[in-house]
Amino acid sequence: MRARAVVDLAALRANVKVLREAAPRAELMAVVKSDAYGHGMIPCARAARKAGASWLGTATPEEAFALRAAGDTGRLMCWLWTPGGPWRQAIEADIDVSASGLWALREVAAAARACGRTARLHLKADTGLGRSGCQPADWPALVDEARAAEAEGAVRVTGLWSHFACADEPGHPSIGAQLSVFREMVAHAEQAGLRPEVRHLANSPATLTVPESHFDLVRTGIATYGISPSPELGAAADFGLRPVMTLSAALASVKRVPGGHGVSYGHRYVTPGETTLALVPVGYGDGIPRHASGTGPVLVAGKWRTIAGTVAMDQFVVDLGGDTAAPGDEAVLFGPGDRGEPTAEDWARAVGSIAYEIVTRISARIPRVYV
Ligand code: PLP
Repeated sequence: MRARAVVDLAALRANVKVLREAAPRAELMAVVKSDAYGHGMIPCARAARKAGASWLGTATPEEAFALRAAGDTGRLMCWLWTPGGPWRQAIEADIDVSASGLWALREVAAAARACGRTARLHLKADTGLGRSGCQPADWPALVDEARAAEAEGAVRVTGLWSHFACADEPGHPSIGAQLSVFREMVAHAEQAGLRPEVRHLANSPATLTVPESHFDLVRTGIATYGISPSPELGAAADFGLRPVMTLSAALASVKRVPGGHGVSYGHRYVTPGETTLALVPVGYGDGIPRHASGTGPVLVAGKWRTIAGTVAMDQFVVDLGGDTAAPGDEAVLFGPGDRGEPTAEDWARAVGSIAYEIVTRISARIPRVYV
C-alpha cells in the first residue's frame, strides 16, 4: 500500500473512558464532525458509543444524517445551521438542533409544525467566544419566544449551551468570565420557565482542566482522538490519552545522488554532499501541508528526517545522509510516538499550526485502516 492511516479504535475507546472519568457527573458527547477530525466518522462514532458516549455531535446536518443512515439511533446533535437548512429532515431523524437567534428558532418551529413533530432544540449563548450564539442582550427575547414555541408543542428546549474561546490556555481570564456569563444566561432561561435536559459548555481542554465547566454534558473532540488540545496544557500522555491515528507511507524510491543536487520544485534544497535520497509518496493532495517543506519530521530508517525541499502534490523527499533504506520501507509521518515516530503535535509545531488541523486535513485519498 502506498500510504495508510491506521486508526486505533481501541485507543479511541480508551480515550473516551479517560474523558468520562475526567467528567464523572456529566454525560459525554463525542464530537465527530469533519469526518471525526479526519479519522473516519462512522467507525469512530461506533467506537465512541461502545465506550459510553451517550451523545454524538456534528457541525453540519449532513454529517448527522450520515450517522443516522449508518444506523446510529442515539442522542445526536448538530449545530451549524444556515437559513433554509434541512430542519424538517433533522426533526424527523430525531436529531437535536441548535438556534442562536430568532431566525433559527422561527425556522425550526415552522418545520416542526409542518411535520407535526416537536423539535429538540438547544439554545446557544455567546458567552464570549464572539462566534455563533445569542448575545446576552438578545437572550431574553430568544428565551421568551422559545417558551412560547414550547407551550405550543413545536419545540422542546432540551439544551442550553455555549462554547469556550480560550480553554486551551491555562488560567486565561476569559474562562472564568465565560463561566459566569453562562451561569447567568442559564439562570435567566430557567427563571423564565425553560427546563433543559442538558446545559453544556466544555470542550476537550475544559473537560480535562476546568471541572466547574462540566455541567450536564461535555463535548470532546480532539482528546477523543488522543491528542492534547494544546502543548501549554500538557502532552496527551499526561492526561492518559493515546493518539488514535498513525500515518505512514512506503518509500517509492531510494537513490544515491551527488553533492549539489537540487531537490524537488524550486530546488529549495540542494544536497550538501553525496547522499541518499528517499521518496515518500504522499503530498499536499493527501493533506500534507505544503508549509511542511523543509520542516516536516518523518521517521525513516530509524531516525527523524526533515522534509528536503518542497512538498509536491503527491510526494516529497527526505535526505538519508549516510544511512540506507530500500523501496517499500516504511516512513512514519506521525503516530503515538512510542516507536520513535513524530506525533501530530510535532507536525503542528513544525508547520506553525495545531494538531487539530494536521489530522483533519489528511485527505480521503489516504485509506483509513481500522484496528
Ligand atoms: N463543541 C463545539 C461547538 C465545537 O465546535 C467543537 C470543535 O471545535 C467542540 C465542541 C470540540 O472541541 P475540542 O476538539 O477542543 O474538544
